[in-house]
Amino acid sequence: MKTDELREKYLAFFETKGCVRRPSDVLVPRWDPSVLFTPAGMNQFKDHFLGRCKLDFTRATTCQKCLRTGDIDNVGRTAYHHTFFEMLGNFSFGDYFKREAITWAWEFLTDKRWLGLDPARLSVTVYLDDDEAAGIWRDEIGLPTSRIGRLGEDENFWPAHAPSQGPDGVCGPCSEIYYHTDSGEVEIWNLVFTQFNRVGDPPDNLRPLPSKNIDTGMGLERTAAVLQGVETNFHIDILRPLVEAAAEVCRTKYDPDSEDGRRLRRIADHVRACAFAVHENVYPGPNKEKYVVKRLLRRAVLDGRQMGVREPFLHGLVGTVAELMRTPYPELSETTTRVANVIRAEESNFLDTIDAGLDRIEKVFEQMKSQGRGVVSGVEAADMYQTHGFPPELFESMAAEHNFTFDWKGYRDEMERHGIESGGGQKMELFKTDPLESLKKAMHGSEFVGYETTEVDDAKVIGIIAAGQLCDKADEVGHDQPIVVVLDKTPFYGEMGGQVGDVGELASEGFRFEVTDTQVDGAFTLHIGHLREGEISLNDKVTARVESTRRQAIRRAHSATHLLHAALRQKLGQHAQQQGSKVDADLLRFDFTNPTAVTRDELAAIEDEVNARVTQAMPIGWQLMPLADARQAGAMMLFGEKYPDTVRMVSVGEYSKELCGGIHLDNTGEVGLLKIVAEESVAAGTRRITALTGPAALGYLRRREAALTEAASLLRCPPEELPHRVEALMKEARQLKKQLAGGGQVQGVSVEQLIEKAEKLGEVNVIISEVPGGNANVFRQMIDQLRRKASPVAVMLGSRDEEQGKVMLVAGLSRDLVERKLDAVAWTKAVSALIQGGGGGRPDLAQAGGKLPAKLPEALAAAREKIAAMLQSK
Ligand code: ATP
Ligand code: MG
Repeated sequence: MKTDELREKYLAFFETKGCVRRPSDVLVPRWDPSVLFTPAGMNQFKDHFLGRCKLDFTRATTCQKCLRTGDIDNVGRTAYHHTFFEMLGNFSFGDYFKREAITWAWEFLTDKRWLGLDPARLSVTVYLDDDEAAGIWRDEIGLPTSRIGRLGEDENFWPAHAPSQGPDGVCGPCSEIYYHTDSGEVEIWNLVFTQFNRVGDPPDNLRPLPSKNIDTGMGLERTAAVLQGVETNFHIDILRPLVEAAAEVCRTKYDPDSEDGRRLRRIADHVRACAFAVHENVYPGPNKEKYVVKRLLRRAVLDGRQMGVREPFLHGLVGTVAELMRTPYPELSETTTRVANVIRAEESNFLDTIDAGLDRIEKVFEQMKSQGRGVVSGVEAADMYQTHGFPPELFESMAAEHNFTFDWKGYRDEMERHGIESGGGQKMELFKTDPLESLKKAMHGSEFVGYETTEVDDAKVIGIIAAGQLCDKADEVGHDQPIVVVLDKTPFYGEMGGQVGDVGELASEGFRFEVTDTQVDGAFTLHIGHLREGEISLNDKVTARVESTRRQAIRRAHSATHLLHAALRQKLGQHAQQQGSKVDADLLRFDFTNPTAVTRDELAAIEDEVNARVTQAMPIGWQLMPLADARQAGAMMLFGEKYPDTVRMVSVGEYSKELCGGIHLDNTGEVGLLKIVAEESVAAGTRRITALTGPAALGYLRRREAALTEAASLLRCPPEELPHRVEALMKEARQLKKQLAGGGQVQGVSVEQLIEKAEKLGEVNVIISEVPGGNANVFRQMIDQLRRKASPVAVMLGSRDEEQGKVMLVAGLSRDLVERKLDAVAWTKAVSALIQGGGGGRPDLAQAGGKLPAKLPEALAAAREKIAAMLQSK
């Protein structure tokens, strides 16, 4: 049976049992801070299981994309572990329980109309004292007791070890189903019976839950392997071609039993996982899920490198992944180019340093052997990551091949010492307490009326949270910690989809609450702020008033964001997809995919395009519709975003259609003006544009204009000439700097050299020299320095410009010579006739310009004679 058929059969089977078929949740659930990747089918139903939300259905079935980093080291080695895999699940929220879960699983596995597996090849396990499950397997299914194993809480309890070690909260025993192949056995399905609430330590700490749940997970690939009679998941129809393709791009043949065979399976697994993650806009990076992607990619590149591949190759497999997964995930095919580009970039990055890294690692290993050390130190590991980009996990597994262990604590300490996050950890906070829990059980959420209005006068207070606890009233004006008010309906928009939360106030007779931020929690809107007057109690009626000027500015920025998104894709290409955005009052920040910086011309074209749409005053409208219809209508969808069944589509004429819950203008003309103020890189392959709208855009231009005007008036030129003037000034400044840096050096002549060349007449230093390239300014500086360093001194410096027919002399005398009545003016005058020039100055400093450059040497020679005579006579 083909894997695609198995997937479909499973979902269809459970539909016949009344389960609602739900789509897979995203692979990277950004809404869930407790996990980096979706680890199991039940993840999207956590709130259902914990009774934290009102239920629209009590039975569900899914095929869920999962990624488990904990299994990375098994990949390629065991027959049945992937990082990315699909889990088929059926779920009951207080509805059917053990009997149905077990009998249906059995029916699906063994019935000829479904999988028709040989019952003799199946065995099960139950939790130690779960006689109920054992009884059903034995008496109702008819399994002999020899094929019903009993396992402890480490294997057959969820969460593992919960009875003895906790955590407190919902938990329950499991029952696993194994298939026995000719060579071994494999767990294909796990049924979890969540039936207890754990309260404290044993004994008697497992209390029955009033409402019991079922959570089951069947491995799609494992079951397909069983059905297809292949020895490993990697040989099923949707994976073997990928392994073979990996062999091809690595220019080798796939031999399942070789070390390279393991490498190729790992490459296939990792590239598939990364293709899905990057598709959902998770790019390789320094922490959390981004780090996992980086680590997987680098591991695969290393495997390729160790088979002799020196060029990027992984990106060449993205198309194969999309093709093999086309039936369940057609959207993958829409992003293969972008995904391949991202993967390619990361490959090249790593390949640049990999050889140096491998050399270094070899050296470390040799050193460790010679020193008899068995543990890779944290410093070595941190250095490998920072200098050569080797993720520590990679280093660790290479070390393991030499039987070395790895000092993780040392590594983390070292990274922290450098102020760097040491990669991602995955933690589970399933049982975090939630002050809104009881509200969520009782109500669907707050009604949002903010699309139509900014004010309602009959909102009812349904929740107050102070100090993290739900309470009946708040009356302490002037409290430090903000408090949270929940209303039955509200015009306040809680921060979501990039749009910031509203601010404003809640008020009634003698009561005022200042709302400084609005957030959402599930379907509830949280008004966060401070009590300014009076008190507030549950069931009070209040007027909720959003600060409307700010709201209007946010609407401008939000509608402009949609225009910008469309314009970017038009001008740069369809790949320029949104990666993230922040919409604030007349301020927007938009991150999108683009391999290079956007040029100034492109930015201008994009800005023009948006503003052209603004001047057209296009109508903006929105509509609620089924997700499928929106897709049909061509609405732009972001991969990795979790969309509900009914979506809100915001359209700007026919120009842009996006799924968006935000608040928009009625007409693009209200944007006024969009001005892009920055374009920068935020991550590899991701750019960020910052722009302003409305009055903020105008204000920005004003400030710029004022600065220009001021600069122009300082330089006494029209603003248009500023660039030219500034350029000239900078050139001059550069020249001066150069001269100063050389201690007044002009074309290789320094003050020091002049002093060295000085002729002593008596005790006076006589310095007479041509200094090519010098000018009056420089000569004056040099003379100053010579006076300081070589007094008593008589200096005459000359330079000439043959082309222009000019020559110049500057003469200087130190103070004591002037006191002896020597005169620099007389000195220059005595020689300036030779260069057909005249000059003047003071006794200590004189200057002459002439028109006969060729005569400069002659003039300088005459100057030597003259000064000698002058010194003699005085
Ligand atoms: P195992 O002990 O074999 O790692 P598990 O106990 O971690 O499995 P569960 O958490 O119970 O598995 O997940 C439910 C089912 O998902 C398993 O029965 C198996 O079929 C499948 N599964 C779990 N982990 C993986 C994986 N890394 N790769 C492929 N399938 C998996
Ligand atoms: Mg496991």
